[in-house]
Amino acid sequence: MAEQAPYTLRILRVDLGSGQVSEELIDGDTTQKYVGGTGLATKYLWDEVPAGVEWSHPENRLTFFTGPLAGTRVSGSGTFSVTTKGACTGMCGTSQANGFLGAFLRFNGVDGVIVQGAAERWTRLHVEEGTVRLFDAEHLVGLDTWETEDAVKAEVGGRCSVFSIGPGGERLVRFSSIVGDRGHVAAHNGVGAVMGSKKLKCISVARGSQKPRVVDPARLVAKAKELAQVSKDVDPPFVKWGTNAGFAPLSAMGAVPIRNYQTNVFPEPNKYVPDYLRTHFKARPLACWACAIAHCHLMEVTEGPYAGFAGEEPEYEGMAGMGPLLGMTDPGATVMLCNLVDRLGFDVNESGYMVAWLMECYEKGLVTKDDLDGIELRWGDAEAAAALLRKIARREGCGDVFADGVKRAAEKLGGEARDCAVYTLKGATPRGHDHRGHWQEFIDTCLSNTGTVESGGHLFTPPNLGLERPKDRFDPLAMSTQNANLNGGRNLEDSLGICRLCTPNLALTLDCLNAVTGWEWDVAAARHFGLRIVNLMRMFNFRHGLTKEIEAPSVRYASTPVDGPAAGIGIAAHWEAIRDNYYEKMGWDVATGRPLPETLRHYGLEFTLQETDG
Ligand code: SF4
Repeated sequence: MAEQAPYTLRILRVDLGSGQVSEELIDGDTTQKYVGGTGLATKYLWDEVPAGVEWSHPENRLTFFTGPLAGTRVSGSGTFSVTTKGACTGMCGTSQANGFLGAFLRFNGVDGVIVQGAAERWTRLHVEEGTVRLFDAEHLVGLDTWETEDAVKAEVGGRCSVFSIGPGGERLVRFSSIVGDRGHVAAHNGVGAVMGSKKLKCISVARGSQKPRVVDPARLVAKAKELAQVSKDVDPPFVKWGTNAGFAPLSAMGAVPIRNYQTNVFPEPNKYVPDYLRTHFKARPLACWACAIAHCHLMEVTEGPYAGFAGEEPEYEGMAGMGPLLGMTDPGATVMLCNLVDRLGFDVNESGYMVAWLMECYEKGLVTKDDLDGIELRWGDAEAAAALLRKIARREGCGDVFADGVKRAAEKLGGEARDCAVYTLKGATPRGHDHRGHWQEFIDTCLSNTGTVESGGHLFTPPNLGLERPKDRFDPLAMSTQNANLNGGRNLEDSLGICRLCTPNLALTLDCLNAVTGWEWDVAAARHFGLRIVNLMRMFNFRHGLTKEIEAPSVRYASTPVDGPAAGIGIAAHWEAIRDNYYEKMGWDVATGRPLPETLRHYGLEFTLQETDG
């Protein structure tokens, strides 16, 4: 059999300051080591973003990278990831988004785009026929993300994918996201704020006509079919109910966030489950590229004060973060707020914790109507929440303080107000869960490199890795050890160019990867890769200010639930033991959290050794 050419990648580099576009070919060995997506982008961050470069500095990098599976026959392969030094933590930020952009890049023969520098005027970056062109985007300023998508599609003419920032990103609101393809979001760690700092309003990618290289097409067809079937059979059934299928099981764990973590008793649980939403409201599927699951839906509210409102169906995290977290009991109001958050270009998680925190502060008299520019921010008041979010997006009045995110605003207010706020000391908020009932994600959120979850995911589950789950989900050391064992899973997911809901089976996903690339990766190779990226991100973060002390939760985040399924079970007393055990299991110095030299050598990261002494 003839020897295959190595699997290589083609990356475009765009300097918005000079307007120059160049091309880089990633050789086969480097591709095997960093794969694509988040993995390859992390290597670029390490190589090109030195200490002292802040998130808003032109020398920060913002990457839009796909992976080897994007644009192939594999279900849900329109995915890409955005990686940068994030605005919330000032450390590594990486966030995956689905839709079409990942596939369309590959149909242009492009595996990723690196953006550096900053433009003088607002700019649109357009990929077509394998290269990049820059267009003036001043006329798009002030448009929300959906309006921007519509305007750019009308300008481009043919089929294209558009991801943009909204008014929040334009004003460098730290928790800004990048939104496109009707409701897909790269949300975490302020990637949209970085985009705004570069005066990049949007990226558009024409459909393209090239076929991504597949080394063994017959094997890919067979394995992709099996993987799609397994994805459809997952329980809870995302194919039938979307991610809101998680509402009931999370509620049973005490992991649905309610009224800023003040209670775990929600008066309207039956209205937030998908069998209510999809039978009472009008819903129709809106699938991403080549997706067999089609969990995304458009939705029209049919009852209550927001009857007639039409938009996207929120994911579980949106329904929770703009629902019970804010004391909402009307799912129609929650649908409206989630859509507003996406259109303003915010991360729905940080938005929820911000509004919920201020609702509690308002109730307790810690902030007043005057402090909020006249807004009476009562629990469950959707219009008041919307008014506050719009102020933040414009950095208008009080909105300017809150535009810097929960941690910074809480520290500014100080005292009792600060102690009500839910955040990590690194500067991010959790996802739309009450993590006090979900310790795996609690530990991960505080100890991950990305400001959000990093361990586990859909590929590195205990069954996929042949591991036992801890018998007690509140066992501090067992849960900490499990997180170390599952670490790197999400970095692998975010490097492949495929939606994580379409990768429930590790062996089949690796079969697809091997069919596309000609590699022969097994589970051990996948874990080795995931942990290589975890350790490289960690070294990047130490370069940019990470310390052991900030790997910790805020006072309220670590408080003990007073009611519900996790009542009386607190994590705070165990935190130091959890963190030290995790460091030890990861091969990191327990005193500092820094990877040990032998750990870095083990993962082929010798080039970081010169920074091991801080
Ligand atoms: S499962 Fe949902 S998010 Fe994932 S590719 Fe399919 S429609 Fe898109």
